Amino acid sequence: MDMGIAGRWALVGGASKGLGYGCASALALEGVNVVMVSRGSEALETAATKIRALCADSMPANGLKVPEIHTVAADITTPQGRAAIFALRKDFDIVVTNAGGPPPGDFRSWDRDAWLAALDANMLTPIELIKATVDGMAARGFGRIVNITSSAVKAPIDILGLSNGARSGLTGFVAGVARSSLAAQGVTINNLLPGIFDTDRLKSNFATQAAKAGKSAEEIKAARIAALPGKRLGNAEEFGKTCAFLCSQHAGYINGQNILMDGGSYPGTF
Ligand code: NAP
Repeated sequence: MDMGIAGRWALVGGASKGLGYGCASALALEGVNVVMVSRGSEALETAATKIRALCADSMPANGLKVPEIHTVAADITTPQGRAAIFALRKDFDIVVTNAGGPPPGDFRSWDRDAWLAALDANMLTPIELIKATVDGMAARGFGRIVNITSSAVKAPIDILGLSNGARSGLTGFVAGVARSSLAAQGVTINNLLPGIFDTDRLKSNFATQAAKAGKSAEEIKAARIAALPGKRLGNAEEFGKTCAFLCSQHAGYINGQNILMDGGSYPGTF
């Protein structure tokens, strides 16, 4: 299926690894020009080189023009980091907001600074990115924002209280702004909620849980997989393809939604 977004410009946060990389590569393979952001420049350049090679392999045989892939090594959660991104380009058609998640832990140990860091990364940064880009999208009559949040917004996990709290704040904000006048101007804003995906972040979560439980990370992983309906973890490629669809021309009537991608783990009917 032609997604109808070739030649558009996307900003993807946390793009050197994991889910952000999955989204950046899926968009690029649809012919979208991508600005990839993460802090570590080495992993970021490696990721960008990989995506350029993927595109060179599949294009122009699939009829699409090879897209431009740019990198900005910056902390997207800081004003300086965002300024560095917008110095490169401001008129994005697609923005995938993403950065690392807050650390797990016991809420008794989180002070004000821990909360402010979580709010900055997982609530206020996506809001700043939305604020900086949606009016331009509306003026051009097309825009797609996809916020990578977490299944923890729908089914909170006790040790991820910083994530539950900060992302719920973003979710409430998005519920309002997605239904504002932007909706009539071709701009959609949705949240994509990952369940358990096989990324570096997950490996470190398993290691933390293993240390706490006195088990190996492999034992924790096997137990988690056994509890999943599909008996497997999600992968970044399928996550990225779903994100690319939400950014496509065809997804214009999907707006203000929280799309849970958890392999059916959430036990409710709705
Ligand atoms: P990951 O594999 O650890 O990748 C995180 C990416 O974000 C890396 O490219 C990292 O590169 C970048 N990053 C982190 N902090 C950044 C910052 N301040 N500025 C710019 N880039 C930053 O993580 P992931 O599993 O893909 O997770 C992505 C998001 O989904 C996280 O918020 C996570 O909490 C959430 N999530 C993941 C899962 C899962 O199962 N994987 C489940 C639920 C929610 P640098 O470190 O070099 O900056």
